[in-house]
Formats: sequence, C-alpha cells, structure tokens
Amino acid sequence: MNSYDVIVIGSGAGGGTLVRHLAPTGKRILLLERGDWLAREPQNWSASDVFVDGRYTSPDIWHYADGEPFAPQVHYYVGGATKLYGAALYRLRAEDFGELRHHDGISPAWPIGYDDMEPYYTQAEQLYEVHGARGEDPTEPHSSAPYPFPAVSHEPRIQQLSDDLAAAGLHPFHAPCGVRLDEANMPFSHCVRCDSCDGFPCLVHAKSDAEVMSVRPALEYPNVTLLTKAEVLRLETNAAGTAVTEVVVSHDGLPESFRADLVVVACGAANSAKLLLASASDAHPNGLANGSDQVGRNYMFHNSQAVLALSRDPNPTVFQKTLGVNDFYFASDAFEFPMGNIQMVGKSQAPMFRGEKPGETKLAPSWTLRDVARHAVDFWLSTEDLPRPENRVTVRSDGHIEISYSATNEVPKQRLYRQLKSMLGHLGMHHDHLLRHHAYLKNEIPVAGCAHQAGTCRFGTDSATSVLDPDCRAHEVDNLYVVDTSFFPSIGAVNPALTAMANAMRVGDHLIDRLGAGVVQPLPEPAHVG
Ligand SMILES: Cc1cc2nc3c(=O)[nH]c(=O)nc-3n(C[C@H](O)[C@H](O)[C@H](O)COP(=O)(O)OP(=O)(O)OC[C@H]3O[C@@H](n4cnc5c(N)ncnc54)[C@H](O)[C@@H]3O)c2cc1C
Ligand code: SF4
Repeated sequence: MNSYDVIVIGSGAGGGTLVRHLAPTGKRILLLERGDWLAREPQNWSASDVFVDGRYTSPDIWHYADGEPFAPQVHYYVGGATKLYGAALYRLRAEDFGELRHHDGISPAWPIGYDDMEPYYTQAEQLYEVHGARGEDPTEPHSSAPYPFPAVSHEPRIQQLSDDLAAAGLHPFHAPCGVRLDEANMPFSHCVRCDSCDGFPCLVHAKSDAEVMSVRPALEYPNVTLLTKAEVLRLETNAAGTAVTEVVVSHDGLPESFRADLVVVACGAANSAKLLLASASDAHPNGLANGSDQVGRNYMFHNSQAVLALSRDPNPTVFQKTLGVNDFYFASDAFEFPMGNIQMVGKSQAPMFRGEKPGETKLAPSWTLRDVARHAVDFWLSTEDLPRPENRVTVRSDGHIEISYSATNEVPKQRLYRQLKSMLGHLGMHHDHLLRHHAYLKNEIPVAGCAHQAGTCRFGTDSATSVLDPDCRAHEVDNLYVVDTSFFPSIGAVNPALTAMANAMRVGDHLIDRLGAGVVQPLPEPAHVG
C-alpha cells in the first residue's frame, strides 16, 4: 500500500489551500480529487452551456427528505467549487465569531475568536490576490495589512449606483474580488474583465481559484502528488477506532488503498459528512467520528436571493460584481435583528433566462427577455441561516446523499428584499420591479442551490456537541482532520470561501507543528500557470 505523511481528500478552497500551505515542508503529500481538471474550452464562457445546460455541474443525484431526487449544484474538479465561484472573498465580521441574536434564534459563538483567524485572513488574501479597499465598509473587521491589490473599479452604471446609495445615507463599498486584474497595465493583466465570471470557469485562468492559486503551485514541489478521478469511498481505522489506517479509493473505477500519518477530509460540507457516515465500523457504529451524532447535522447554505432590478437607462456593465452594502448586516434602527449582506452578481445575459417562466418577468410581453437583460442590475442578497440539528445530511441505503432542510430567518430575508425594493426609485431603477432570478445558483430551489454549503462537522471544545476540536481534528480519531466549510459552527452572511482558505492555513500551521516539519523549502513565486 502506498504510504504518505499526509493525505488530503478534496482539492477545493479548503483542501487545495492546505496542500499549498504544506507543500514547502517537504513532507510526502497525496491529494486525492474525485474530479478531473476542468477543460479549458470555448464553452467555459458560454452562458447557455454553463447556466442552461449545466455543463460543469456534477451528474450526482441527491434526495430531499421525502425521497424526491434533485440535481445539486456541485462541481467536482481540481479546485472544487472555486472553479465556478464568483471570487467575492470576504472576511467574516469579527462579531460573527461571537454569539449573535437573530430573528429565529441564536447564531452560536465559534471556539476561536476573530483575532485567532486574522493573520490567516491576511495570508489568504495575499495567496488569493484579493483586490479591495479598506475603510469603506463600516462593518469591516480590523486587519493587520492592506489588501494586496487595489479595488476593482466600478463601471459607470455601478459607480452611479454607489453614488446614489451613498446619497441615500448608506455605505456602499468596493467588494473584495479574487480576479487577477491589473487595471493600470491591461496589456499585462491576466484578467481581461469579461462578462462571464461569476458562475463560469475562467478560460484564461485569471480567477483566483484553488486550482490556479494553490494546486498548480503546490505541484511544483516534488513531494506533492495529485491523483485525479480518485473518489474516496471509505476510511478504515485500527480496531480501537482511534486512528485512520487506510484510505479506500475508486481510482478511475479501480480500487486502490493508501495510508498516511495524517488524513485530512475536505470534500465539501455534504460530501465530507457522507464520507464519514459511510465509514461506519464496529468502533464507530454511527459513522466515523460520530459518537456525538453531530456528523451531517447543522447543514447551512445561506438564505440567499438572486434578484434583478431594471435600470431606467440601459446597464452596459461588463464586470458587475464590484459593489457591496453591509448597512443591514447587523441589528439596526430599521430592524431589531440582522438582515444580511447585499452585493452584486454577474451581469444577466439573455440566454440565462431560457430556464425562466416568461410570466415571472412581470414586464412581459412588452419587454423581451433581451430588454430585461439589457436593463438588468443584478443583486445577491444573503441572510444568515442558522444551524439546526434537524437540518442534516444523511446517506441513503443506495449510497446517495439525502438532505433534510427547513429554512430559517425567512422574515429578515423578506425584510432585506423589501428594503432594497423600497430604494429602487432613488437608484435610477423602475419602481416595484425586483425580479427573482432563478437561473443563478438555482437559489430559489432551496436545497439544490447548495453553493455555500457548510456546517456538517462543526468544531468546538465540547465533544458532545461538535465533531472537531478547535484545531479541526476529530475529537474521536487522533489523525483525522476536516478543513472544508464543514467546520463552520455558524455561517455569517458573507461568502464563505476566504474563511475556508484562511482556516486551512491555520490548521496547516498546526499540522506543520505536529509533523515537526517547519518550512524546509522556500516558497516559490506562485506559478500562475495559464
Ligand atoms: C457558482 C458558485 C459561486 C460561488 N461564489 C462564491 C463567491 O463569490 N465567494 C465565496 O466566498 N464563495 C463562493 N462560492 C462558494 C465557494 O466556492 C465554496 O464555499 C468553497 O469552494 C467551499 O470550499 P470546500 O473546500 O468546502 O469545498 P469545494 O471547494 O467544493 O471542494 C471540495 C472538493 O472535494 C472533492 N470531493 C468531493 N467528494 C470527494 C471524494 N469522496 N473523494 C475525493 N474528492 C472528493 C470535490 O470534487 C471538490 O473538488 C460559490 C460557489 C459556487 C458553486
Ligand atoms: S477574465 Fe477576469 S472577469 Fe473574465 S472570467 Fe477570468 S477572472 Fe473573471
């Protein structure tokens, strides 16, 4: 059996970043990824291929609690979901690490504070080349360094929106973006500022995703091995159940086994829970590391709404995801509970509406879908959903994932929607037209839209109520760690990827100590393989 110092399972925001962090130690690292490299092809930037035909969505079938099947919006590639993500790379707010009172209950405290994570947020922003501007967002947590790159500029219609929001007394800010754009030197910029970013793969590898910024640079180290098309099926332990002894893989359809001193699971929140549950044994009859019955529970994915307003003037914006508003993030005079975050999403394109029912566009038939797309200003509203033990991932007897989920915080979600709608007249938009945009992330199909999935193996100090300890090590299995978004005890209302990346680096430092490794090779400049 092949033997390694560390095996990492899953190459997305958590797993990819961890491998990049550990690569310079010289330790023998195996990265197992069930997907393949995402092909670079013209369809990367085709709205109908990506949004209507779901070219890069996994063929997996999951099930609702009543047994009804659905196609989850998950992406199995080197780089994981970050290959398709919008690269809005936010820090959680400092308050998100403490207990917060919400309309539907308590968002629980984390076992570590914001100050523990801050240095790693700074490192993650540097690794993922985040562009932003400190000091504009009043909810922004303190930081030990400026953003490594200047904010991505607003195009004229979005600058106007920013000015109008400011005139209305709000505090719009430049959204933190992981796109490798050099506006001062466009001939040498990796990013060409196109209209096919959020939800698309980047054809020119200019998006700061986990493949480009972490996995490819890590593979420059001879001690790092990547196996694609390698789906981990099961983790075996010693008889006492205290250590993982074997990682059982289907590699291109053939069985293989590997072993390592340390095993790190980073399959995404639903699949990590599935793997642990599927690894039940005599020593762990309810699933690996599941003596507390917490594995799979507390599934969260944000109570989000993609909506579009119709600008009175056409909106010719190309790259729209440059603005955010956090004035409603916390309880305020307007509402005694948090409502959430408002940000932009990628600009609507007419082909994306092919899956929509024309009646839902309200203006039909006087407006064609092309008119709607030409005038659309697209927003993404995120309200925090709360961890609920009954919102959970389980594994059916046929091996498929089943998800039980009931939304929380519906009232603040509707409040946030009405808040934005009430302002449209001041923002140069048609009154009363704030349309649901179903094509993006299938966000109105509550469980299928699982882009921001989190929480199924939460970390904590009490082994009765959590799966992982504060180092993200399983309470019950000495050499087992989980570093994807599963570890989140609460999800906040900003996008989760930067927190997964920062936490992977934090856990990486712990693993480096544990391996007695230190950093033995200098970090090369990231390869940015194009
Ligand atoms: C369309 C879209 C837009 C998004 N936009 C943003 C955004 O703007 N900002 C933001 O912060 N977040 C965004 N997200 C969410 C973000 O991408 C995720 O939060 C993040 O990637 C989660 O990281 P992860 O490590 O938990 O999982 P992933 O990145 O999904 O990585 C999991 C990896 O594990 C692999 N895997 C699964 N099971 C197995 C197995 N059994 N064996 C081997 N490998 C396995 C998968 O193939 C995958 O590569 C977006 C997501 C989507 C889909
Ligand atoms: S070129 Fe820039 S804007 Fe276009 S997909 Fe790539 S990173 Fe996004």
